[in-house]
Amino acid sequence: MTSNNETLFARAQQSTPGGVNSPVRAFRSVGGTPRFITRAEGPYFWDADDKRYIDYIGSWGPAIVGHAHPDVVRAVQDAAVRGLSFGAPTEAEIEMAELICRLVPSIEQVRLVSSGTEAAMSALRLARGATGRDLIVKFEGCYHGHADALLVKAGSGLLTFGNPTSAGVPEDFAKHTLVLDYNDAQQLEDTFRDMGERIACVIVEPVAGNMNLLRATPEFLQTMRRLCTQHGAVLIFDEVMSGFRVALGGAQSLYGIQPDLTVLGKVIGGGLPVAAFGGRANLMKHLAPLGGVYQAGTLSGNPVTVAAGLATLALIQAPGFYDRLAAQTTKLVQGLSTAAQDSGVPFCADAVGGMFGLYFAPQLPVSHATMMECDKEAFNRFFHAILDAGVYLAPSAFEAGFVSAQHDDAVIADTLTAARKAFAVVAGK
Ligand code: PMP
Repeated sequence: MTSNNETLFARAQQSTPGGVNSPVRAFRSVGGTPRFITRAEGPYFWDADDKRYIDYIGSWGPAIVGHAHPDVVRAVQDAAVRGLSFGAPTEAEIEMAELICRLVPSIEQVRLVSSGTEAAMSALRLARGATGRDLIVKFEGCYHGHADALLVKAGSGLLTFGNPTSAGVPEDFAKHTLVLDYNDAQQLEDTFRDMGERIACVIVEPVAGNMNLLRATPEFLQTMRRLCTQHGAVLIFDEVMSGFRVALGGAQSLYGIQPDLTVLGKVIGGGLPVAAFGGRANLMKHLAPLGGVYQAGTLSGNPVTVAAGLATLALIQAPGFYDRLAAQTTKLVQGLSTAAQDSGVPFCADAVGGMFGLYFAPQLPVSHATMMECDKEAFNRFFHAILDAGVYLAPSAFEAGFVSAQHDDAVIADTLTAARKAFAVVAGK
């Protein structure tokens, strides 16, 4: 019997490339039919066959207070009846900016945009405009959205300039991007020694979530901070994923390192399109209308999306919110590790705040290269077995997972029951 998901997927592919509006949703990496979602509430969502799943992607991060939280829904409804978009400033945007500056002290001024891609792209332009330099440094495996300069992988040989990872990105653009190894402080030292005076910025996910979860070592980030200061380069932390996710103050609060610019997204929109970039006021002043770096947006600071963001940011400031979120995430990864051990499947897991990584590997990966050694086939078997049992993980072995404040003990226990079945499938039992 054909499921409603299959019917919708076939139909979607007629009018939309690959049937989806963002590639990973198509299940290409894991195979099978994507689930078309009809509604979501708390830790759950339901597909077109009315099957319920415990959701561990939370819209890829934003749904930190759980889906359709009544406070957030009410804020959106109240804002919507007052008008959907004005193209003129509002007081709510000031409140949002003030709140972000208070919660992330390295941010003295901030500008709101509509997607993480836009925020990272704008931060790069600002860094280049403020320094008058062209070169940027990024790290293999980090994702910062799909701006041309950032869709670049390492070239062959040591310290070569980047190669495009997407058709349509001119080599001429990619050659301004240096792609280095995550967690390799020595390589960063060497690069700055050779080219420091030409580097506009270093952009990094301080806790990486786009090559599964990978923690930066403190030494790596400290070296980066020191080198950027010494050479007059701008240090950009891309906290689109880690911001308000690994801690209230983001990864920078956990590591005690202040970047010059921070890129935010996901949680700050609570499920509606809000992202932001901000940092030192003496950098932000280079933005139009004050300075010569142009950046703009018809829907930037939209009243409805900002209302969702403000309501979400109010909830996550509740005392103990992050302690509880981290405790639930730890219960999940410890439970999964025990279940894997019992089934004899080589597996480990890690968590930072409300973000986690699952690795079909005997040891925790410490670099992009060791991450790529994880057993992708084992993950794919696990993914489908646990999906059948009602748990929705990111449909790729190389994405992080997200827990919400609505994932209570009963939800974690149900997840672990499903996981035991799924590990048995992986073990071939
Ligand atoms: N930076 C990071 C760290 C991200 O995880 C993402 C999206 N997953 C982006 C930037 C791009 O954000 P968006 O998808 O909103 O454009």
